[in-house]
Amino acid sequence: MTSPDLTSPDLQAHDLTSRVQATLAATPTQLFIDGRWREADSGSHFTVENPATGDVLATVASAGSVDAAAAMDAAATAQEAWGRTSSRSRAEILRRGFDLVQERAEDLALLMTLEMGKPLAQSRGEVGYGGEFLRWFSEEAVRDYGRYADTPEGNLRMLVTRKPVGPCLLITPWNFPLAMATRKVAPAIAAGCTMILKPAGLTPLTALYFTQLMTEAGLPAGVLNVLPTDSPAEISEPLLADSRLRKISFTGSTAVGKHLMRQATENVLRTSMELGGNGPLLVFEDADLDKAVAGAMAAKMRNMGEACTAANRLLVHESVAEEFIARLAEKMSALKVGPGLEETSDVGPLIDAKACASVEGLVVEAVERGAKVVVGGHRIEGPGHFYAPTLLRDVPAEARVMREEIFGPVAPVMTFSTEDEAVELANATEYGLASYVFTENISRGLRIGDRIDFGLLGLNVGVISNAAAPFGGVKQSGLGREGGAEGISEYTSTQYIGVESP
Ligand code: NAD
Repeated sequence: MTSPDLTSPDLQAHDLTSRVQATLAATPTQLFIDGRWREADSGSHFTVENPATGDVLATVASAGSVDAAAAMDAAATAQEAWGRTSSRSRAEILRRGFDLVQERAEDLALLMTLEMGKPLAQSRGEVGYGGEFLRWFSEEAVRDYGRYADTPEGNLRMLVTRKPVGPCLLITPWNFPLAMATRKVAPAIAAGCTMILKPAGLTPLTALYFTQLMTEAGLPAGVLNVLPTDSPAEISEPLLADSRLRKISFTGSTAVGKHLMRQATENVLRTSMELGGNGPLLVFEDADLDKAVAGAMAAKMRNMGEACTAANRLLVHESVAEEFIARLAEKMSALKVGPGLEETSDVGPLIDAKACASVEGLVVEAVERGAKVVVGGHRIEGPGHFYAPTLLRDVPAEARVMREEIFGPVAPVMTFSTEDEAVELANATEYGLASYVFTENISRGLRIGDRIDFGLLGLNVGVISNAAAPFGGVKQSGLGREGGAEGISEYTSTQYIGVESP
């Protein structure tokens, strides 16, 4: 197949059905290696489904070990010249990429809604957020400073520089198909690394479309190689065993992350891990309940709850719990569940049948342990994998829904009576990614920040992700930071040159 023409006038079609068809027709469905779209060596394919309907959207080439070797050859060959390009030229490619993402925002949003399910408005929000990594790192690329100083003894001058770490393997999950890719690809480009991107098998289309945009933006052959596959281990194992690979950056579940970390030890790879979360949202007695309810809605319901930053455990002071629950119940009951393509939908389908069954199992177990259903608590029959927005109260701490990542539109509430108890409950998890605190007492907010073990804290807000901020977790939520000034250093290594004093 030749590269599709994304500027086809067909894409201007107004009718939704023809727009869907045109966007899918303009989306590459092959592997991208060394600047060329190609079929898998084995000829294998897999299908991508619409979680709102179960319909097949596309058939995509499935990479295997031979393709992994070809992508590794391309990335390794391109590394030296790419690493020596000027940071300004890399910045300009990123900036053109940002502009193209804005230009094709509607197509990217449509693709995300089709393959992942989230409502169009949220897909548009992700295009905005995901695109910002391209702009942010285009600005950071030219400011990746080193330093120059005398040794304390005066016998040497120290030149400390940062170099691209080398070819990287980037593995992304299905829940944010664009942003999880741009959060890795953009800093890797800025730093001068070549890369092999493996998007999630459930949602490869957005990443493939984005790859085409980066080619249009002028990214040279071999810098970004993309391997969709439905057999991820078939490509990750040989790549992690290849001594030319220098880094892995993974976003996904803690279980898979640990597995890949073990393999990455063999070649002592640089490793960035953005793993699971089990975020607490604390509402103190002095909280502004309007802010707390709005924050809980955003932190819990965005992306149908399928977010590593989701507020999974709503911990509310006993004196305001009744009012908080009543207000949250009203908001959750008003949410419209439906296919993401319908502009009126607030909550789309879950990603697949397995995800729906898993959420159902968590709710059933919580109810068996004494939790009460305030809103929802059931699947929605019909095509697609829909689960009703669900509010649970009186949930015991031992319930699985309080201990495991929910990844669905289920909000379990527990009460506390003292600040110490709130902190203890918040920290009672092996995860440490996002947390949220609602209090009008700023000293208390900052004190809680000191005491809770989370990489991210939203103080009186329910969404804090931003390309300019360092995103990442502690404990079993991962290693490293994406975004911010920190994001680029994940892709550079430090070199020190001692220069004789004149
Ligand atoms: P997952 O771990 O199942 O898959 C993530 C990626 O790893 C996918 O591309 C998948 O194909 C790939 N993969 C799976 N097995 C592999 C193997 N053996 N070798 C190589 N690659 C393999 O996770 P998921 O279900 O796609 O995503 C949900 C998880 O991601 C949740 O735990 C969520 O919290 C986490 N997540 C974390 C962040 C963060 O920034 N911390 C962001 C989004 C999602």
